[in-house]
Amino acid sequence: MSLTIKITNVGRDVHLSLEGVLDENCQLPEFPEVIQGELEICLEKLTMINSLGCRKWAHWIRAQAKTKGGVSLVKCSPAIMNQINILAGFLPEYARVDSFYVPYYCEGCGYEDRVLLTRGHEFDTTGLISFAEEVPCPGCKAIMAMEVLRERYFKFLARKGA
Ligand SMILES: [Zn+2]
Repeated sequence: MSLTIKITNVGRDVHLSLEGVLDENCQLPEFPEVIQGELEICLEKLTMINSLGCRKWAHWIRAQAKTKGGVSLVKCSPAIMNQINILAGFLPEYARVDSFYVPYYCEGCGYEDRVLLTRGHEFDTTGLISFAEEVPCPGCKAIMAMEVLRERYFKFLARKGA
């Protein structure tokens, strides 16, 4: 597995998508000019990050501080949410999470699902607004619970400017 990078220009904004594994072999993109709009980073398909990948990311995200319109992380996968919550510096103050996935697991049949929480709907700068900690399993109709610990997974919401 390696890292697949997609870059799309949307007006003055740049949309970046990272898919796969973020490790010591990955090459994060360098932008020749300062981005005049927003840098939106989609992390929906980022499946794994190792410690050297974390270091690369932390260095790279610091270089994006000059982006005029700010840095927005969208559709954050559980892999990236775990790092955001554990590592100071993984998400600098000028970057914010605009949407992220919460994983659910059904003990009845083993079905796994994830639900997207979006800024302004399920959470905002004051913290969580509302979301379902349990959802019905589409397979066996049992109750699916979150696969993560609430107090750990939503920790990033407590930081300043989150
Ligand atoms: Zn089930």
